[in-house]
Amino acid sequence: MIRRLDDPTIAKIAAGEVVTRPASVVTELIENSLDAGATRIDVTVDGDGTERIRVADDGAGMSEDDAALAVERHTTSKLDGPDDVNAVDTLGFRGEALPSMAAVATLDVTTNDGGPRGTRVRVEDGEKRVDPAGRAVGTTVEVRDLFYNRPARRKSLAAARTEFGRISDVVTRYALANPYTRFSLTHDGRETFKTTGTGYTDAVLGAYGRDVAGQSTEFDHRTTVEFDGGVVSGANDTSSDESDGKEYPLEVEGLLVYPSITRAQHSHVHTAVNGRALRDEVIRKATVRGYGNLLSNGRFPVAVVAVSLPPELVDSNVHPAKERVAFRAETAISEAVETAVNDALTTADLRRSAAVAMDLDSSLASVSRDSDFDDVSVIGQFRDLYLLCEADDDLLVVDQHAAHERVNYERLRAALDGEAVESVDVDPAQTLSLSPPEAAAVESHREALSKLGFDLDPFGGSAFRLTAVPAPLGRVLDADALRDTLDTLRAGAKPEELRDELLKDLACHPSLKAGDTLAGEDATALLRRLGECDQPYACPHGRPTVLSIDESALVRGFQRGHRNLA
Ligand code: ADP
Ligand code: MG
Repeated sequence: MIRRLDDPTIAKIAAGEVVTRPASVVTELIENSLDAGATRIDVTVDGDGTERIRVADDGAGMSEDDAALAVERHTTSKLDGPDDVNAVDTLGFRGEALPSMAAVATLDVTTNDGGPRGTRVRVEDGEKRVDPAGRAVGTTVEVRDLFYNRPARRKSLAAARTEFGRISDVVTRYALANPYTRFSLTHDGRETFKTTGTGYTDAVLGAYGRDVAGQSTEFDHRTTVEFDGGVVSGANDTSSDESDGKEYPLEVEGLLVYPSITRAQHSHVHTAVNGRALRDEVIRKATVRGYGNLLSNGRFPVAVVAVSLPPELVDSNVHPAKERVAFRAETAISEAVETAVNDALTTADLRRSAAVAMDLDSSLASVSRDSDFDDVSVIGQFRDLYLLCEADDDLLVVDQHAAHERVNYERLRAALDGEAVESVDVDPAQTLSLSPPEAAAVESHREALSKLGFDLDPFGGSAFRLTAVPAPLGRVLDADALRDTLDTLRAGAKPEELRDELLKDLACHPSLKAGDTLAGEDATALLRRLGECDQPYACPHGRPTVLSIDESALVRGFQRGHRNLA
Protein backbone atom coordinates (compact mmCIF):
# COMPACT_ATOMS: atom_id res chain seq x y z
CA MET A 1 0.00 0.00 0.00
CA ILE A 2 1.19 3.46 -0.82
CA ARG A 3 1.22 6.03 1.97
CA ARG A 4 2.49 9.54 2.47
CA LEU A 5 5.81 9.78 4.33
CA ASP A 6 5.81 11.70 7.60
CA ASP A 7 7.95 14.82 8.07
CA PRO A 8 10.74 13.16 10.12
CA THR A 9 11.24 10.64 7.30
CA ILE A 10 11.17 13.28 4.60
CA ALA A 11 13.78 15.21 6.55
CA LYS A 12 16.14 12.22 6.49
CA ILE A 13 15.99 11.74 2.75
CA ALA A 14 18.91 13.00 0.66
CA ALA A 15 17.36 15.95 -1.10
CA GLY A 16 18.17 17.02 -4.62
CA GLU A 17 16.83 17.14 -8.10
CA VAL A 18 15.71 13.71 -9.25
CA VAL A 19 15.00 14.36 -12.91
CA THR A 20 17.92 16.15 -14.54
CA ARG A 21 17.91 14.60 -18.02
CA PRO A 22 16.07 11.98 -20.04
CA ALA A 23 18.40 9.22 -18.79
CA SER A 24 17.44 9.94 -15.18
CA VAL A 25 13.77 9.37 -16.06
CA VAL A 26 14.72 6.00 -17.51
CA THR A 27 16.75 5.11 -14.42
CA GLU A 28 13.88 5.88 -12.05
CA LEU A 29 11.28 4.05 -14.14
CA ILE A 30 13.44 0.95 -14.49
CA GLU A 31 14.04 0.94 -10.74
CA ASN A 32 10.29 1.14 -10.12
CA SER A 33 9.70 -1.80 -12.47
CA LEU A 34 12.37 -3.86 -10.74
CA ASP A 35 10.91 -3.01 -7.34
CA ALA A 36 7.55 -4.23 -8.63
CA GLY A 37 9.15 -7.60 -9.38
CA ALA A 38 9.10 -7.30 -13.17
CA THR A 39 10.58 -10.15 -15.20
CA ARG A 40 10.42 -8.09 -18.34
CA ILE A 41 10.99 -4.38 -18.94
CA ASP A 42 10.54 -2.71 -22.31
CA VAL A 43 11.90 0.79 -22.79
CA THR A 44 10.82 2.91 -25.75
CA VAL A 45 12.41 6.26 -26.54
CA ASP A 46 11.68 8.84 -29.23
CA GLY A 47 14.35 11.35 -30.25
CA ASP A 48 16.53 12.53 -27.40
CA GLY A 49 13.99 11.27 -24.88
CA THR A 50 12.27 14.60 -24.27
CA GLU A 51 9.67 13.69 -26.92
CA ARG A 52 8.67 10.44 -25.30
CA ILE A 53 9.98 7.81 -22.91
CA ARG A 54 7.85 4.77 -22.15
CA VAL A 55 8.68 1.97 -19.76
CA ALA A 56 6.36 -1.04 -19.65
CA ASP A 57 6.69 -3.88 -17.16
CA ASP A 58 4.95 -7.08 -16.08
CA GLY A 59 5.37 -6.34 -12.38
CA ALA A 60 2.77 -6.34 -9.63
CA GLY A 61 0.93 -3.21 -10.81
CA MET A 62 -1.08 -0.82 -8.63
CA SER A 63 -4.66 -0.53 -7.45
CA GLU A 64 -6.66 2.51 -8.49
CA ASP A 65 -6.16 4.23 -5.12
CA ASP A 66 -2.45 3.54 -5.11
CA ALA A 67 -1.99 4.72 -8.68
CA ALA A 68 -3.71 8.01 -7.87
CA LEU A 69 -1.49 8.48 -4.83
CA ALA A 70 1.76 7.40 -6.51
CA VAL A 71 2.06 10.62 -8.52
CA GLU A 72 1.87 12.79 -5.39
CA ARG A 73 4.99 13.96 -3.57
CA HIS A 74 6.51 11.85 -0.82
CA THR A 75 4.20 8.91 -1.34
CA THR A 76 5.74 5.46 -1.41
CA SER A 77 4.93 1.86 -0.62
CA LYS A 78 8.53 1.19 0.29
CA LEU A 79 9.20 2.86 3.65
CA ASP A 80 7.36 2.69 6.94
CA GLY A 81 9.19 5.31 8.95
CA PRO A 82 12.44 7.21 9.37
CA ASP A 83 14.38 4.17 10.62
CA ASP A 84 13.72 2.31 7.42
CA VAL A 85 15.89 4.79 5.52
CA ASN A 86 18.91 3.10 7.11
CA ALA A 87 18.11 -0.32 5.74
CA VAL A 88 16.44 0.07 2.39
CA ASP A 89 15.88 -3.17 0.52
CA THR A 90 14.21 -1.64 -2.52
CA LEU A 91 15.73 0.50 -5.25
CA GLY A 92 13.31 3.34 -4.62
CA PHE A 93 12.25 4.69 -1.24
CA ARG A 94 11.79 8.43 -1.53
CA GLY A 95 8.46 8.69 -3.26
CA GLU A 96 9.87 11.48 -5.42
CA ALA A 97 10.33 10.07 -8.91
CA LEU A 98 6.82 10.06 -10.38
CA PRO A 99 5.83 13.48 -8.94
CA SER A 100 9.14 14.98 -10.15
CA MET A 101 8.34 13.76 -13.66
CA ALA A 102 4.78 15.03 -13.43
CA ALA A 103 6.14 18.48 -12.56
CA VAL A 104 8.15 18.80 -15.78
CA ALA A 105 6.29 16.64 -18.31
CA THR A 106 3.02 15.01 -19.24
CA LEU A 107 2.81 11.78 -17.27
CA ASP A 108 0.64 8.76 -18.00
CA VAL A 109 0.59 5.82 -15.64
CA THR A 110 -1.44 2.85 -16.85
CA THR A 111 -1.51 -0.02 -14.42
CA ASN A 112 -3.34 -3.12 -13.28
CA ASP A 113 -2.69 -5.13 -10.12
CA GLY A 114 -4.78 -8.10 -11.21
CA GLY A 115 -8.30 -6.68 -10.92
CA PRO A 116 -10.93 -6.94 -13.66
CA ARG A 117 -9.85 -3.59 -15.07
CA GLY A 118 -6.89 -1.31 -14.83
CA THR A 119 -6.43 2.38 -14.15
CA ARG A 120 -4.91 5.26 -16.01
CA VAL A 121 -3.62 8.30 -14.15
CA ARG A 122 -2.67 11.27 -16.28
CA VAL A 123 -0.99 14.44 -15.04
CA GLU A 124 -0.92 17.24 -17.59
CA ASP A 125 -0.10 20.87 -16.74
CA GLY A 126 -0.30 19.90 -13.09
CA GLU A 127 -3.90 18.57 -13.44
CA LYS A 128 -4.50 14.98 -12.40
CA ARG A 129 -7.15 12.73 -13.98
CA VAL A 130 -7.94 9.14 -13.03
CA ASP A 131 -9.79 6.89 -15.49
CA PRO A 132 -10.41 3.20 -15.92
CA ALA A 133 -8.22 1.59 -18.54
CA GLY A 134 -7.59 -1.81 -20.05
CA ARG A 135 -4.24 -3.38 -19.30
CA ALA A 136 -2.82 -6.77 -18.34
CA VAL A 137 -1.14 -7.01 -14.92
CA GLY A 138 1.80 -4.63 -14.79
CA THR A 139 2.51 -0.96 -15.32
CA THR A 140 3.29 1.32 -18.24
CA VAL A 141 4.61 4.78 -17.54
CA GLU A 142 4.85 7.25 -20.37
CA VAL A 143 6.62 10.60 -20.04
CA ARG A 144 6.08 13.09 -22.87
CA ASP A 145 7.32 16.62 -23.53
CA LEU A 146 9.93 16.41 -20.85
CA PHE A 147 11.02 19.86 -19.59
CA TYR A 148 8.28 21.58 -21.64
CA ASN A 149 8.10 24.16 -18.83
CA ARG A 150 11.86 24.27 -18.17
CA PRO A 151 13.36 25.87 -21.32
CA ALA A 152 16.76 26.37 -19.69
CA ARG A 153 16.98 22.73 -18.70
CA ARG A 154 15.96 21.68 -22.16
CA LYS A 155 18.61 23.90 -23.73
CA SER A 156 21.28 22.40 -21.49
CA LEU A 157 20.73 18.94 -22.94
CA ALA A 158 23.31 17.56 -25.36
CA ALA A 159 22.73 16.40 -28.93
CA ALA A 160 20.03 13.76 -29.37
CA ARG A 161 22.50 10.96 -30.00
CA THR A 162 24.41 11.83 -26.83
CA GLU A 163 21.26 11.87 -24.70
CA PHE A 164 20.13 8.61 -26.26
CA GLY A 165 23.62 7.21 -25.69
CA ARG A 166 23.18 7.94 -21.98
CA ILE A 167 19.81 6.21 -21.97
CA SER A 168 21.27 3.24 -23.77
CA ASP A 169 24.02 3.14 -21.16
CA VAL A 170 21.50 3.12 -18.31
CA VAL A 171 19.47 0.30 -19.85
CA THR A 172 22.61 -1.71 -20.53
CA ARG A 173 23.90 -1.27 -17.00
CA TYR A 174 20.59 -2.28 -15.42
CA ALA A 175 20.28 -5.25 -17.77
CA LEU A 176 23.76 -6.42 -16.75
CA ALA A 177 22.98 -5.92 -13.07
CA ASN A 178 19.67 -7.79 -13.36
CA PRO A 179 20.44 -10.62 -15.79
CA TYR A 180 17.30 -12.60 -14.97
CA THR A 181 15.01 -9.80 -16.13
CA ARG A 182 14.39 -9.40 -19.87
CA PHE A 183 15.14 -5.92 -21.12
CA SER A 184 14.56 -4.30 -24.47
CA LEU A 185 15.28 -0.82 -25.76
CA THR A 186 13.60 0.64 -28.83
CA HIS A 187 14.70 3.96 -30.30
CA ASP A 188 12.62 5.76 -32.95
CA GLY A 189 10.87 2.51 -33.73
CA ARG A 190 14.01 0.40 -34.02
CA GLU A 191 15.02 -2.15 -31.39
CA THR A 192 18.59 -1.34 -30.45
CA PHE A 193 19.21 -3.64 -27.51
CA LYS A 194 17.73 -6.64 -25.80
CA THR A 195 18.53 -9.33 -23.31
CA THR A 196 16.87 -12.68 -22.79
CA GLY A 197 16.68 -12.71 -18.99
CA THR A 198 18.65 -15.93 -18.86
CA GLY A 199 21.77 -15.02 -16.93
CA TYR A 200 25.02 -13.10 -17.07
CA THR A 201 26.55 -14.61 -20.19
CA ASP A 202 23.43 -13.91 -22.22
CA ALA A 203 23.19 -10.39 -20.82
CA VAL A 204 26.81 -9.71 -21.82
CA LEU A 205 26.03 -11.19 -25.23
CA GLY A 206 23.28 -8.57 -25.61
CA ALA A 207 25.51 -5.75 -24.44
CA TYR A 208 28.88 -6.61 -25.96
CA GLY A 209 28.24 -9.21 -28.62
CA ARG A 210 29.52 -12.68 -29.23
CA ASP A 211 33.23 -11.92 -29.42
CA VAL A 212 33.31 -10.70 -25.84
CA ALA A 213 30.70 -12.98 -24.25
CA GLY A 214 32.43 -16.01 -25.73
CA GLN A 215 35.58 -15.25 -23.76
CA SER A 216 34.24 -15.08 -20.27
CA THR A 217 33.50 -17.02 -17.13
CA GLU A 218 30.56 -16.64 -14.74
CA PHE A 219 31.25 -16.76 -11.04
CA ASP A 220 29.36 -16.88 -7.76
CA HIS A 221 31.13 -16.50 -4.44
CA ARG A 222 29.40 -16.61 -1.07
CA THR A 223 31.03 -15.62 2.14
CA THR A 224 30.33 -13.73 5.34
CA VAL A 225 31.69 -10.45 6.59
CA GLU A 226 32.03 -9.47 10.17
CA PHE A 227 30.75 -6.12 11.25
CA ASP A 228 30.36 -4.86 14.80
CA GLY A 229 27.45 -2.58 14.03
CA GLY A 230 29.06 0.23 16.00
CA VAL A 231 29.04 2.73 13.17
CA VAL A 232 25.50 2.16 11.99
CA SER A 233 24.00 5.47 12.92
CA GLY A 234 20.42 5.48 14.03
CA ALA A 235 19.76 1.82 13.30
CA ASN A 236 16.67 0.61 15.04
CA ASP A 237 18.37 -2.66 15.78
CA THR A 238 19.09 -2.84 19.50
CA SER A 239 21.39 -5.84 19.08
CA SER A 240 23.87 -3.50 17.42
CA ASP A 241 24.98 -2.56 20.93
CA GLU A 242 26.98 -5.76 21.09
CA SER A 243 30.62 -4.99 20.65
CA ASP A 244 31.37 -8.40 19.15
CA GLY A 245 31.24 -8.56 15.38
CA LYS A 246 28.13 -9.99 13.85
CA GLU A 247 28.40 -12.13 10.74
CA TYR A 248 26.54 -10.97 7.66
CA PRO A 249 26.15 -13.01 4.47
CA LEU A 250 27.72 -11.56 1.34
CA GLU A 251 27.39 -12.77 -2.22
CA VAL A 252 29.59 -11.63 -5.07
CA GLU A 253 28.59 -12.87 -8.49
CA GLY A 254 28.73 -11.95 -12.11
CA LEU A 255 30.90 -12.48 -15.11
CA LEU A 256 34.55 -11.89 -15.87
CA VAL A 257 35.80 -11.47 -19.41
CA TYR A 258 39.19 -13.09 -19.87
CA PRO A 259 42.07 -10.64 -19.85
CA SER A 260 42.83 -11.40 -23.49
CA ILE A 261 40.16 -8.74 -24.07
CA THR A 262 40.77 -5.49 -22.23
CA ARG A 263 39.79 -1.85 -22.46
CA ALA A 264 41.57 1.44 -21.96
CA GLN A 265 38.75 2.75 -19.78
CA HIS A 266 37.41 1.41 -16.51
CA SER A 267 33.77 2.01 -17.44
CA HIS A 268 33.42 -1.57 -18.64
CA VAL A 269 33.74 -2.85 -15.11
CA HIS A 270 30.00 -2.88 -14.38
CA THR A 271 29.17 -2.85 -10.70
CA ALA A 272 25.89 -3.42 -8.90
CA VAL A 273 24.78 -3.43 -5.30
CA ASN A 274 21.59 -5.32 -4.45
CA GLY A 275 20.39 -5.00 -8.03
CA ARG A 276 21.12 -1.30 -8.32
CA ALA A 277 23.43 -0.56 -11.23
CA LEU A 278 25.92 2.07 -10.15
CA ARG A 279 29.52 3.00 -10.71
CA ASP A 280 31.00 1.92 -7.43
CA GLU A 281 34.68 2.64 -6.96
CA VAL A 282 35.19 0.22 -4.11
CA ILE A 283 33.91 -2.76 -6.09
CA ARG A 284 35.55 -1.64 -9.30
CA LYS A 285 38.98 -1.22 -7.75
CA ALA A 286 38.70 -4.52 -5.91
CA THR A 287 37.77 -6.21 -9.20
CA VAL A 288 40.78 -4.74 -10.98
CA ARG A 289 42.99 -5.88 -8.06
CA GLY A 290 41.46 -9.32 -8.43
CA TYR A 291 42.71 -9.49 -12.03
CA GLY A 292 46.11 -8.47 -10.66
CA ASN A 293 48.99 -8.75 -13.08
CA LEU A 294 46.81 -10.38 -15.72
CA LEU A 295 46.20 -6.83 -16.87
CA SER A 296 48.95 -4.83 -18.42
CA ASN A 297 49.62 -1.26 -17.47
CA GLY A 298 46.66 1.06 -17.85
CA ARG A 299 44.31 -1.64 -19.14
CA PHE A 300 40.96 -2.51 -17.58
CA PRO A 301 38.84 -5.63 -17.77
CA VAL A 302 35.31 -6.07 -19.04
CA ALA A 303 33.33 -7.50 -16.12
CA VAL A 304 30.03 -7.51 -14.31
CA VAL A 305 30.36 -7.70 -10.55
CA ALA A 306 27.18 -7.73 -8.52
CA VAL A 307 27.31 -7.63 -4.74
CA SER A 308 24.33 -8.67 -2.63
CA LEU A 309 24.34 -8.04 1.07
CA PRO A 310 21.92 -7.25 3.89
CA PRO A 311 20.56 -3.71 3.64
CA GLU A 312 22.02 -2.87 7.07
CA LEU A 313 25.47 -2.88 5.44
CA VAL A 314 24.61 -0.39 2.68
CA ASP A 315 23.57 3.22 2.95
CA SER A 316 21.64 3.99 -0.24
CA ASN A 317 20.63 7.40 0.96
CA VAL A 318 23.89 9.26 0.29
CA HIS A 319 23.18 10.70 -3.16
CA PRO A 320 20.06 12.44 -4.53
CA ALA A 321 20.08 10.45 -7.77
CA LYS A 322 21.15 7.31 -5.88
CA GLU A 323 24.27 7.07 -8.03
CA ARG A 324 26.42 6.11 -5.08
CA VAL A 325 26.07 4.05 -1.96
CA ALA A 326 28.19 3.92 1.16
CA PHE A 327 29.27 0.59 2.59
CA ARG A 328 29.58 -0.24 6.20
CA ALA A 329 32.42 -2.79 6.60
CA GLU A 330 33.91 -1.46 3.37
CA THR A 331 37.30 -3.14 3.78
CA ALA A 332 35.82 -6.59 4.30
CA ILE A 333 33.53 -6.14 1.31
CA SER A 334 36.37 -4.96 -0.91
CA GLU A 335 38.53 -7.93 0.14
CA ALA A 336 35.71 -10.35 -0.55
CA VAL A 337 35.29 -8.97 -4.07
CA GLU A 338 39.02 -9.19 -4.79
CA THR A 339 39.12 -12.79 -3.57
CA ALA A 340 36.03 -13.76 -5.54
CA VAL A 341 37.47 -12.36 -8.77
CA ASN A 342 40.93 -13.75 -8.19
CA ASP A 343 39.64 -17.24 -7.36
CA ALA A 344 37.41 -17.31 -10.40
CA LEU A 345 40.29 -16.33 -12.68
CA THR A 346 42.70 -18.76 -11.06
CA THR A 347 40.37 -21.67 -11.63
CA ALA A 348 39.95 -20.52 -15.18
CA ASP A 349 43.75 -20.93 -15.50
CA LEU A 350 44.31 -17.83 -17.49
CA ARG A 351 47.59 -16.69 -16.16
CA ARG A 352 49.69 -18.02 -18.95
CA SER A 353 47.40 -16.92 -21.74
CA ALA A 354 47.55 -13.36 -20.57
CA ALA A 355 51.27 -12.96 -20.10
CA VAL A 356 52.00 -9.68 -21.75
CA ALA A 357 55.22 -9.81 -23.63
CA MET A 358 56.92 -7.13 -25.58
CA ASP A 359 59.65 -6.45 -28.00
CA LEU A 360 60.97 -3.57 -29.95
CA ASP A 361 60.21 -2.90 -33.51
CA SER A 362 63.67 -2.83 -34.95
CA SER A 363 62.36 -1.45 -38.22
CA LEU A 364 62.07 1.93 -36.54
CA ALA A 365 64.65 4.41 -37.56
CA SER A 366 66.39 5.85 -34.56
CA VAL A 367 65.76 9.50 -34.00
CA SER A 368 69.02 11.38 -34.07
CA ARG A 369 69.08 12.96 -30.69
CA ASP A 370 71.06 12.49 -27.56
CA SER A 371 69.46 10.08 -25.21
CA ASP A 372 69.04 10.87 -21.52
CA PHE A 373 69.97 7.29 -20.86
CA ASP A 374 73.15 7.03 -22.94
CA ASP A 375 75.31 6.36 -19.91
CA VAL A 376 72.96 3.94 -18.27
CA SER A 377 73.76 0.25 -18.26
CA VAL A 378 71.23 -2.48 -17.80
CA ILE A 379 72.24 -4.86 -15.01
CA GLY A 380 69.23 -7.13 -14.95
CA GLN A 381 65.56 -7.73 -15.17
CA PHE A 382 63.07 -8.36 -12.39
CA ARG A 383 59.94 -10.47 -12.94
CA ASP A 384 59.97 -9.80 -16.69
CA LEU A 385 58.46 -6.44 -15.84
CA TYR A 386 61.23 -4.17 -14.65
CA LEU A 387 64.66 -3.34 -15.92
CA LEU A 388 67.26 -2.69 -13.28
CA CYS A 389 69.87 -0.24 -14.43
CA GLU A 390 72.96 1.44 -13.11
CA ALA A 391 73.37 5.18 -13.64
CA ASP A 392 76.21 6.87 -11.77
CA ASP A 393 75.16 6.83 -8.14
CA ASP A 394 71.61 5.74 -8.83
CA LEU A 395 69.85 2.45 -9.26
CA LEU A 396 67.09 2.93 -11.84
CA VAL A 397 64.06 0.72 -12.00
CA VAL A 398 62.35 1.04 -15.37
CA ASP A 399 58.80 -0.18 -15.92
CA GLN A 400 59.20 -1.85 -19.33
CA HIS A 401 55.57 -1.56 -20.32
CA ALA A 402 55.29 2.06 -19.39
CA ALA A 403 58.57 2.86 -21.12
CA HIS A 404 57.47 1.06 -24.23
CA GLU A 405 54.18 2.92 -24.28
CA ARG A 406 55.97 6.25 -24.07
CA VAL A 407 58.26 5.32 -26.93
CA ASN A 408 55.34 4.11 -29.07
CA TYR A 409 53.38 7.23 -28.35
CA GLU A 410 56.06 9.73 -29.23
CA ARG A 411 56.94 7.84 -32.38
CA LEU A 412 53.32 7.60 -33.43
CA ARG A 413 52.91 11.29 -32.85
CA ALA A 414 56.01 12.16 -34.83
CA ALA A 415 55.21 9.72 -37.63
CA LEU A 416 51.67 10.96 -38.04
CA ASP A 417 52.09 14.66 -37.52
CA GLY A 418 48.91 15.66 -39.32
CA GLU A 419 48.94 12.75 -41.71
CA ALA A 420 46.28 10.05 -41.74
CA VAL A 421 47.37 6.82 -40.14
CA GLU A 422 48.54 4.18 -42.56
CA SER A 423 46.23 1.21 -42.66
CA VAL A 424 46.22 -2.32 -44.01
CA ASP A 425 43.29 -4.27 -45.42
CA VAL A 426 41.77 -6.99 -43.34
CA ASP A 427 41.25 -9.87 -45.73
CA PRO A 428 38.80 -11.48 -45.35
CA ALA A 429 36.97 -8.64 -43.61
CA GLN A 430 36.27 -9.32 -39.94
CA THR A 431 32.64 -9.19 -38.79
CA LEU A 432 32.20 -7.44 -35.46
CA SER A 433 29.06 -7.42 -33.39
CA LEU A 434 29.20 -4.12 -31.55
CA SER A 435 27.08 -2.92 -28.68
CA PRO A 436 24.37 -0.41 -29.67
CA PRO A 437 26.28 2.54 -28.18
CA GLU A 438 29.44 1.42 -29.96
CA ALA A 439 27.51 1.11 -33.22
CA ALA A 440 26.14 4.62 -32.76
CA ALA A 441 29.68 5.88 -32.18
CA VAL A 442 30.86 4.24 -35.41
CA GLU A 443 28.09 5.95 -37.36
CA SER A 444 28.76 9.36 -35.97
CA HIS A 445 32.56 9.24 -36.10
CA ARG A 446 33.07 7.50 -39.42
CA GLU A 447 35.43 10.18 -40.71
CA ALA A 448 37.59 10.34 -37.60
CA LEU A 449 37.89 6.57 -37.60
CA SER A 450 38.97 6.51 -41.20
CA LYS A 451 41.64 9.16 -40.53
CA LEU A 452 42.90 6.86 -37.82
CA GLY A 453 43.06 3.93 -40.22
CA PHE A 454 39.86 2.02 -39.39
CA ASP A 455 37.44 1.30 -42.21
CA LEU A 456 34.07 -0.24 -41.41
CA ASP A 457 30.98 -1.11 -43.40
CA PRO A 458 27.53 -1.56 -41.85
CA PHE A 459 26.51 -5.20 -41.87
CA GLY A 460 22.97 -5.11 -40.50
CA GLY A 461 21.83 -4.15 -37.00
CA SER A 462 24.82 -3.24 -34.88
CA ALA A 463 27.15 -5.53 -36.83
CA PHE A 464 29.97 -4.11 -38.93
CA ARG A 465 32.60 -5.47 -41.24
CA LEU A 466 36.05 -4.25 -40.43
CA THR A 467 37.85 -3.91 -43.76
CA ALA A 468 40.98 -2.02 -42.73
CA VAL A 469 42.90 -1.45 -39.52
CA PRO A 470 45.68 0.98 -38.65
CA ALA A 471 49.20 -0.24 -39.12
CA PRO A 472 51.24 2.36 -37.28
CA LEU A 473 54.95 1.75 -37.04
CA GLY A 474 54.65 -1.25 -39.30
CA ARG A 475 52.60 -3.05 -36.67
CA VAL A 476 49.01 -4.12 -37.27
CA LEU A 477 46.46 -3.25 -34.61
CA ASP A 478 43.57 -5.57 -33.91
CA ALA A 479 39.83 -5.16 -33.49
CA ASP A 480 40.22 -4.55 -29.76
CA ALA A 481 41.98 -1.31 -30.56
CA LEU A 482 38.86 -0.25 -32.44
CA ARG A 483 36.77 -0.69 -29.33
CA ASP A 484 39.19 1.43 -27.34
CA THR A 485 39.08 4.07 -30.00
CA LEU A 486 35.28 4.06 -29.88
CA ASP A 487 35.41 4.43 -26.13
CA THR A 488 37.58 7.48 -26.45
CA LEU A 489 35.29 8.96 -29.09
CA ARG A 490 32.26 8.28 -26.91
CA ALA A 491 33.90 9.80 -23.86
CA GLY A 492 33.46 13.02 -25.81
CA ALA A 493 37.03 14.30 -25.92
CA LYS A 494 37.38 17.69 -27.64
CA PRO A 495 38.45 17.46 -31.29
CA GLU A 496 41.93 18.80 -30.60
CA GLU A 497 42.43 16.41 -27.70
CA LEU A 498 40.85 13.55 -29.52
CA ARG A 499 43.71 12.67 -31.78
CA ASP A 500 46.15 12.78 -28.94
CA GLU A 501 43.94 10.64 -26.72
CA LEU A 502 43.61 8.14 -29.52
CA LEU A 503 47.34 8.04 -30.08
CA LYS A 504 47.83 7.43 -26.37
CA ASP A 505 45.38 4.56 -26.44
CA LEU A 506 46.91 3.12 -29.55
CA ALA A 507 50.39 3.44 -28.07
CA CYS A 508 49.28 1.51 -25.00
CA HIS A 509 47.50 -1.16 -26.91
CA PRO A 510 48.83 -4.65 -26.23
CA SER A 511 48.94 -5.56 -29.90
CA LEU A 512 51.54 -2.86 -30.40
CA LYS A 513 53.57 -4.45 -27.65
CA ALA A 514 53.07 -8.11 -28.33
CA GLY A 515 56.20 -10.09 -28.95
CA ASP A 516 58.95 -11.80 -27.05
CA THR A 517 60.36 -11.13 -23.67
CA LEU A 518 62.85 -8.34 -23.70
CA ALA A 519 66.40 -9.62 -23.83
CA GLY A 520 69.67 -7.88 -23.00
CA GLU A 521 70.36 -6.03 -26.19
CA ASP A 522 66.75 -4.97 -26.70
CA ALA A 523 66.62 -3.65 -23.17
CA THR A 524 69.46 -1.30 -23.94
CA ALA A 525 67.74 -0.23 -27.14
CA LEU A 526 64.50 0.43 -25.26
CA LEU A 527 66.33 2.61 -22.77
CA ARG A 528 68.06 4.54 -25.51
CA ARG A 529 64.77 5.18 -27.27
CA LEU A 530 63.12 6.17 -24.03
CA GLY A 531 65.91 8.65 -23.52
CA GLU A 532 65.17 10.18 -26.92
CA CYS A 533 61.62 10.96 -25.92
CA ASP A 534 60.47 14.48 -25.12
CA GLN A 535 59.05 13.28 -21.84
CA PRO A 536 60.82 10.06 -20.95
CA TYR A 537 59.71 9.93 -17.35
CA ALA A 538 56.01 9.25 -17.74
CA CYS A 539 53.93 6.96 -19.91
CA PRO A 540 51.35 8.68 -22.16
CA HIS A 541 48.73 8.37 -19.45
CA GLY A 542 50.98 9.95 -16.87
CA ARG A 543 52.26 7.01 -14.86
CA PRO A 544 55.98 7.04 -14.10
CA THR A 545 58.31 5.03 -16.31
CA VAL A 546 61.42 5.23 -14.16
CA LEU A 547 62.02 5.17 -10.44
CA SER A 548 65.43 5.95 -9.11
CA ILE A 549 66.96 4.87 -5.85
CA ASP A 550 70.08 6.79 -5.06
CA GLU A 551 72.99 5.12 -3.40
CA SER A 552 72.64 7.07 -0.18
CA ALA A 553 69.24 5.44 0.39
CA LEU A 554 70.92 2.04 0.20
CA VAL A 555 73.69 3.22 2.51
CA ARG A 556 71.12 4.34 5.05
CA GLY A 557 69.07 1.21 4.62
CA PHE A 558 72.03 -1.07 5.25
CA GLN A 559 73.29 1.17 8.01
CA ARG A 560 76.62 1.63 6.34
CA GLY A 561 76.77 5.26 7.39
CA HIS A 562 80.36 4.93 8.65
CA ARG A 563 81.95 3.42 5.63
CA ASN A 564 85.43 3.76 6.96
CA LEU A 565 84.62 1.46 9.88
CA ALA A 566 83.37 -1.32 7.63
P1 ADP B 1 9.51 5.35 -4.79
O1 ADP B 1 9.95 4.40 -5.84
O2 ADP B 1 10.65 6.05 -4.15
O3 ADP B 1 8.58 4.75 -3.80
P2 ADP B 1 8.14 6.69 -6.96
O4 ADP B 1 7.63 8.07 -7.13
O5 ADP B 1 9.14 6.21 -7.94
O6 ADP B 1 8.71 6.56 -5.49
O7 ADP B 1 6.92 5.71 -6.98
C1 ADP B 1 5.87 5.89 -6.03
C2 ADP B 1 5.16 4.57 -5.74
O8 ADP B 1 4.46 4.16 -6.91
C3 ADP B 1 6.08 3.41 -5.42
O9 ADP B 1 6.37 3.35 -4.04
C4 ADP B 1 5.26 2.21 -5.88
O10 ADP B 1 4.39 1.78 -4.87
C5 ADP B 1 4.42 2.77 -7.02
N1 ADP B 1 4.98 2.42 -8.35
C6 ADP B 1 5.73 3.22 -9.15
N2 ADP B 1 6.08 2.60 -10.29
C7 ADP B 1 5.54 1.35 -10.21
C8 ADP B 1 5.54 0.22 -11.10
N3 ADP B 1 6.20 0.22 -12.28
N4 ADP B 1 4.86 -0.91 -10.70
C9 ADP B 1 4.22 -0.92 -9.50
N5 ADP B 1 4.18 0.12 -8.64
C10 ADP B 1 4.82 1.25 -8.97
MG1 MG C 1 10.89 4.99 -7.60
